[in-house]
Amino acid sequence: MSIKIENLSYIYQENTPLAYKALNNISFEIEDGSYTAIVGHTGSGKSTLLKHLNGLIKATSGQINVDEYLIDKDTPNKKLNMLRKKVGFVFQFPESQLFEETVIEDIAFAPKNFGKSDEEATAIAKEMAKLVSLPENLYNKSPFELSGGQMRRVAIAGILAMNPKILILDEPTAGLDPRGRAEMMQLFKKLNDKGLTVILVTHQMNDVAQYADQVIVLEKGNLIFNGQPRNLFQKIDWVKEHHLNLPQVTSFYYDLCHQLNIKPKQDIPLNEEELVDKITNILGDRNE
Ligand code: ADP
Ligand code: MG
Repeated sequence: MSIKIENLSYIYQENTPLAYKALNNISFEIEDGSYTAIVGHTGSGKSTLLKHLNGLIKATSGQINVDEYLIDKDTPNKKLNMLRKKVGFVFQFPESQLFEETVIEDIAFAPKNFGKSDEEATAIAKEMAKLVSLPENLYNKSPFELSGGQMRRVAIAGILAMNPKILILDEPTAGLDPRGRAEMMQLFKKLNDKGLTVILVTHQMNDVAQYADQVIVLEKGNLIFNGQPRNLFQKIDWVKEHHLNLPQVTSFYYDLCHQLNIKPKQDIPLNEEELVDKITNILGDRNE
């Protein structure tokens, strides 16, 4: 499903002394099947923006189109029910929303709620548990006996059980160890390869470089960049001015060029393979 956001502004507690403009005239588009990263400092409006995408909160002004669904401040909630089935929203620390007695029952909750029989819902739950790589010996355990990373997988499987077309992930790897983080990112990649549109809020620029087709940068409620990761990380001075990080590989490349007193190429490396290529070229040039 594609998304078009036009002139979106959002004010918390409008018309009160506590009014706060969290989003200011944001416009951008997301293509069907793409992988978009949204980055920016804490408080820049990332979570507020995500919550507009399934109508959890509604624009103070402006509008959003998700395929044929229009969401603006006047859209009634009952018009959003179909859309909410198609937009899977993984909140920060989704494991805090687990509540059923077993892993499989927790994952089966949504399909049951949407009218599947017990057998059908259980079959879907098992399929989703497999998709997120939960070992079978956990299926009948209480979700609360699981490790943090496993609990998060259960929560994500529960969202996937609704068969969403768009997957919204608000800092899904926060608090996981490096291995758990890498596995989680692999899972989202797999889902994106299967055709899901993925929208990821993250502070991890390595992940932005490795996975995203498009990156949106928010700063104090304003959209200050929209483009490909390579075009963002090329602008090293701009990235620094806005106190953002570079992917490790890119940062290493700039440091190396600086040390060797050579001008970095516009075509910067974003992953290890590209970095090795660049270093090989530098060594080649030096040996000539
Ligand atoms: P991010 O996800 O980028 O950290 P948020 O979207 O959560 O940012 O918040 C953006 C701004 O809106 C912050 O300054 C935050 O304090 C403010 N804000 C968030 N939720 C509320 C709320 N319920 N009431 C008032 N202000 C809020
Ligand atoms: Mg947030």
